[in-house]
Amino acid sequence: MKKRIYLSPPHMSGNEIKHVNQAFDENWIAPLGPNVDAFEQSVSEYCGVTGSVALSSGTAALHLALILLGVQQGDDVFVSSFTFSASVNPVVYQGATPVLIDSEPDTWNMDPQLLEQAILDRQKYGNKPKAIIVVHLYGMPAKMDEILAIAEKYSIPVIEDAAEALGSKYKGKPLGSLGKLAILSFNGNKILTTSGGGVLLSNNTEWIDEARFLATQARDQAVHYQHSKVGYNYRMSNVLAGIGRGQLEVIDERVRRKREINLYYKDKLGEFDGIEFLEEPDESYFSNCWLTTILVDPVKTGTSWQQLRLELEKENIESRPLWKPMHLQPVFEAYPAYQNNVSESLFATGMCLPSGTNMSDGELEKIVSILKKEINK
Ligand SMILES: *Cc1c(COP(=O)(O)O)cnc(C)c1O
Repeated sequence: MKKRIYLSPPHMSGNEIKHVNQAFDENWIAPLGPNVDAFEQSVSEYCGVTGSVALSSGTAALHLALILLGVQQGDDVFVSSFTFSASVNPVVYQGATPVLIDSEPDTWNMDPQLLEQAILDRQKYGNKPKAIIVVHLYGMPAKMDEILAIAEKYSIPVIEDAAEALGSKYKGKPLGSLGKLAILSFNGNKILTTSGGGVLLSNNTEWIDEARFLATQARDQAVHYQHSKVGYNYRMSNVLAGIGRGQLEVIDERVRRKREINLYYKDKLGEFDGIEFLEEPDESYFSNCWLTTILVDPVKTGTSWQQLRLELEKENIESRPLWKPMHLQPVFEAYPAYQNNVSESLFATGMCLPSGTNMSDGELEKIVSILKKEINK
């Protein structure tokens, strides 16, 4: 069996082990320690924010962001429908109502017009609008000027779900620095990984301190164990933060390679009628190109993403459909959704191509030749 080519596997730089060894040498295996502090500092600097907290996952980071904003039962949280379920689950953990907002066709992210329509429409139900979770899917920045203007107009704080978008920029600013709060994921498939982990970002130091407190079981200042709030065990361990330090040293190189892979696919497949790419609408948008995605028009190409996926699978190469929108998921279908058919039509025709930064040029050429053969048939 040929070695499997994965969609976006972990890619170690070699420096991770140095920081992990340091944790072993100093017996700093317990959660928290120097790697956690250094990792948080590097992430904050890179993302251009004053504070960050390293956590066990991006999902945990989003959960804490909602808690910091006081989200509870009877509240509305506006969230992109075209995303991974982890963007929505924490809203439900808090007993709040996710209000699912469809995409615009330019960036595939939250449609600002639909967002405003939803905010106005939901006013009649008496729920409090508490937060907007805007996702930067596949690394592509959402239309932030428009979304932030609406958020300002109705005084609703924005949380950026930048889980897939570390290294992306909007108008020259790093994603994760634009909302009141933002989350990153360091799960195994993301552009950088700590094998599992997440970070909460904010320029609000009080929130960052409170998040750190809540994430370590909400222990009050006392020699004995005293608690006046419900706490969580959400901190990243010092061993895993060591991996994160080594990863962050190579973020620029990882973004460069992701974009190079994207460009290669566009160069080789862009000429085909019926194959479309997700493209940066103008120079305000800089994507980390976490995954390269294509839309396959079955009439124009005479094939389909399903068939292309099977052709790749025959050669032990992984590819995947786009995220299935949340308003189509059985678990979320009862929640209010504001739709325009954009995400449904993307889901019907789109797929993610292998985008691992450790993929060789030869492997990339092979993938393209398999795709070309099927499209040319
Ligand atoms: C991966 C991901 C998350 C969750 O991150 P975890 O670290 O896996 O909990 C949240 N939102 C989006 C859009 C993601 O892709």
